[in-house]
Amino acid sequence: MNAANITAKTVVVTGGAGFIGSRIAAALADDNEVRVLDDLSSGAATNLPDGVELLEGDVRDETAVRDAVRDADVVFHEAAEVSVQRSVEQPRRSNDVNVGGTLNVLEAAREADARVVFASSCAIYGVPDAVPLTEDAPARPRSPYAIDKYAADSYVRAYNDLYGLETVALRYFNVYGPGQAGGQYSGVINVFVDQARRGDPITIDGDGTQTRDFVYVDDVVRANLAAATTDAVGEAFHVGTGAETSVLELAETIRDVTGSDSDIVHQDPRPGDVPASVADLTRARESLGYEPTVGLEAGLRNLVAKR
Ligand code: NAD
Repeated sequence: MNAANITAKTVVVTGGAGFIGSRIAAALADDNEVRVLDDLSSGAATNLPDGVELLEGDVRDETAVRDAVRDADVVFHEAAEVSVQRSVEQPRRSNDVNVGGTLNVLEAAREADARVVFASSCAIYGVPDAVPLTEDAPARPRSPYAIDKYAADSYVRAYNDLYGLETVALRYFNVYGPGQAGGQYSGVINVFVDQARRGDPITIDGDGTQTRDFVYVDDVVRANLAAATTDAVGEAFHVGTGAETSVLELAETIRDVTGSDSDIVHQDPRPGDVPASVADLTRARESLGYEPTVGLEAGLRNLVAKR
């Protein structure tokens, strides 16, 4: 991963003990002072690379955020309540972490004059009118999580417009890779890999024609590093692959790479499931020089090998 142009900086990664944040921290740890602010609610200290300072704290705590961000050059803001399901159960809590926490980060960054690179999400679009999605597509967020991300993404841009703070929002599509937490709230890839490995039926919601853009975590890290140095601040960029994969194709590929003989079975469609999603990468390519490098099969092989 090329972090060569980011050296001798003070870098904060909120949520740096989590899946994506820990990979960003690892990419920068050798040549920079890296601080991680994480409450370890879904992340783990064991994810952290050597040489990184862990500040155990909550992004809802203004003082903890200000202390972490003091004198920083760049903040990668990954900490979030990431479970859509939990956001539905506890929308106020989700708002406090995802919107309130982002405001704390933006305010602290304003004091420190630090750039903020924010982990936004394609969830803000809801059901797209058309794919591939451009960054100007209408946002119709449908869960508290997606509403939070849309609000935070809007604040991130507004802090650039209003206060001249250098900010970049990266709207991730479906990120996967080794180290993604399993369990009840894990993404479809973990669920399918577990089913395939056990030889259990791989269960698809609906007919499997729904599509997604699955992006390998190393490419997401590359996009973050580019966002830390780009001149194109005050903008939002897509981080995906531009490749549209059906859930049925995903299930078949996972069955192949795990060498499983699981059946693929269908259950009732999930009400309101997004029928199609894929990123248009034109803006990210032009402004960030972002180019995805890991195809789905190679990415899945890495994930399966390291899990
Ligand atoms: P993750 O759960 O592995 O990481 C989130 C980290 O934030 C964890 O280490 C957790 O302990 C920490 N955290 C949670 N609440 C906190 C709080 N109140 N204070 C401090 N730390 C807190 O999830 P991830 O997949 O690495 O997601 C990183 C970011 O990317 C999130 O903002 C998420 O919304 C965004 N995102 C992820 C995906 C994806 O497919 N994984 C897609 C779109 C956007």
